[in-house]
Amino acid sequence: MQVSVDRDRCCSSGMCVTNAPEVFDQDDRDSLVMLRQTVVLPEQFDDVRLAAELCPGRAITVTEGESERIGA
Ligand code: SF4
Repeated sequence: MQVSVDRDRCCSSGMCVTNAPEVFDQDDRDSLVMLRQTVVLPEQFDDVRLAAELCPGRAITVTEGESERIGA
């Protein structure tokens, strides 16, 4: 699984950091999302899927194998 974020869509809600703090962070300057890692470990899959589903800006893209999913 790989994850990417679109900072132009991020509304700084912080939900992703709450759901997957090992993978997501927020920029100290503008509170926009930052990635700690782009390749997701198997034990982080569920947390990252949840973060993508609950992101209010639909700013998180999860790629699993050939399929790409943005938000829910
Ligand atoms: S949950 Fe979405 S909108 Fe909120 S900080 Fe994370 S990427 Fe940005």
